[in-house]
Amino acid sequence: MTSLQQLAADTAQKFVQSYGRPPRWIVAAPGRVNVIGEHVDYNDGYVLPMAIEHYAVMAADRSADGKTVMQIRDSSGVAPVLVDLSVPVQPGEPKWGNYPRGVIAGFLELGLNPGGLDVLLHSTVPMGGGLSSSAALEVATATLIETVAGKKIDPVTKALLCQKAENDFAGVPCGIMDQFVSVMGRQNHLLLLDCRSRKTELVPMSDASVSLMIINTNVKHELVGGGYAERRQQCEQAAKILGVPALRDATPEMLEHAKGRLSNVVFRRARHAISEIERTVHAAEGVRASNWPTVGQLMYASHASLRDDYEVSCRELDTVVEIAEDIGYKGGIYGCRMTGGGFGGCAVALVKTELVPAITEKIAAEYKKKTKITATIFVSRPAAGATVIKG
Ligand code: ADP
Ligand code: MG
Repeated sequence: MTSLQQLAADTAQKFVQSYGRPPRWIVAAPGRVNVIGEHVDYNDGYVLPMAIEHYAVMAADRSADGKTVMQIRDSSGVAPVLVDLSVPVQPGEPKWGNYPRGVIAGFLELGLNPGGLDVLLHSTVPMGGGLSSSAALEVATATLIETVAGKKIDPVTKALLCQKAENDFAGVPCGIMDQFVSVMGRQNHLLLLDCRSRKTELVPMSDASVSLMIINTNVKHELVGGGYAERRQQCEQAAKILGVPALRDATPEMLEHAKGRLSNVVFRRARHAISEIERTVHAAEGVRASNWPTVGQLMYASHASLRDDYEVSCRELDTVVEIAEDIGYKGGIYGCRMTGGGFGGCAVALVKTELVPAITEKIAAEYKKKTKITATIFVSRPAAGATVIKG
């Protein structure tokens, strides 16, 4: 895997190729994977993500002509984004520019104007794969503006500003997790985030004998009907019947007690949310104690709950988890689950670092055999959040 230093050097090189001079600033912001705590953010629950060793890197210099335009060129060759900072910033074309545009608009509102810039973006976060290339792009933009303006904003304000950019400018109604972890992640730590109070706690995971493996099923099933909205609404309904502000406030006993007053499907949705919030808190304790078998079992239980009670898995994700269970503890896998919204995307597994090559080979081969699809697999240790590489 390319180190962040190497990636920064590559990005600087691309800046030189594109603009004909070296960059003055270089910043990076990571993608993320959620280790456990799925579909609980909108139930005021806890999530336990980590930043991954894949980053959006931005190299920049003052614009050559001294104008007030921020120009962002992307290393993949898509159309560049031009943002005139002397007029109110609006969403526009190309569409990918709406992520940085929203962030720039947020900083202008705070009275922070970075002035005209030439920027080169180079990202190794896979796009649209559920690893939050979007938050990486937003947080890299925010970190660049802070660096250029010479003024740091509070990390929570920064994360919320980036979330607002994604909501309002890109039109994606995401929660707070992705931006929080891309801003506040730390090397060798998971981030326990309370989605109600927005309080965060870094959970040490310095035992290098384990890693997180990310297995992209490379499928994305179109949802029939409003899968996400429907589940949110079912959770709200359950909370109302239980007489609590959110499912965060309910216990398994309360749910059991109210069983007769809930439809079977609403009961199961609530059972997922309530048990998943509990699992996430326990998993954080397990990580803190380096109790990998316990963390692994919680991951398997999370998957079963998402599959059977919440019904957001799919055949390919279930296949990956079954393969992981077959390989098992002896083969170096402690636990595995779908991660992200579901219906495709990625699974995440807790694995023994020394067995990574063998596990990768085995999962790839079995998944291909069972689905005829080639999975994309990589591992990551918990990585650092947004960083200024050249400031
Ligand atoms: P995810 O965040 O899971 O990768 P999203 O659909 O939320 O998926 O975000 C992907 C979108 O973010 C892309 O379609 C594109 O508009 C934008 N994006 C992210 N990274 C880049 C990049 N390096 N270059 C251009 N656009 C990017
Ligand atoms: Mg995204």
